[in-house]
Amino acid sequence: MGGVNLNLEALDKVTWPAACPACGHQTNETDGGLTDVKVKKGIKTSFASGTPKKVSVRLCARCISRVSRAEKMGKFGWGLAGITFLLGVLHAPANQLQWSGVGFGFWLGAILGWIGERRKKSLVGLQPTRVSKDTWHFRFKNQSFADSFLTANKQFVKNE
Ligand SMILES: [Zn+2]
Repeated sequence: MGGVNLNLEALDKVTWPAACPACGHQTNETDGGLTDVKVKKGIKTSFASGTPKKVSVRLCARCISRVSRAEKMGKFGWGLAGITFLLGVLHAPANQLQWSGVGFGFWLGAILGWIGERRKKSLVGLQPTRVSKDTWHFRFKNQSFADSFLTANKQFVKNE
């Protein structure tokens, strides 16, 4: 996974190439669909305000359907964990067997939720991090997307 530092104050200055960050295929305005990528903060910016929480990127039809499957699994998992947790709190289980059921449902849900989130992240293959007030770091999985991203934003690329 390659990365690049950009000299930018705000993400809205970034030009997104017409390509899928997951597989590098060309996309256009009507292809596939948008997915949200969480924006990370660096050590220097962890308490800074004004950093967007997420950014929408367009994936091709094939990748967006894989991502939405991973998202569904994640949501199902967290939902299951939440419901079994509530059940455990509201109806204090009467015996060992019920306790095991609640515990099993909770952990199964939490694990599925975690796997779903990890899978989505690795499928999208793009991670923007705000390193400092005017520096953003981008990580890419796909080399051809990384190349077109660099070309589209070359005026911002930081030479260390
Ligand atoms: Zn794709």
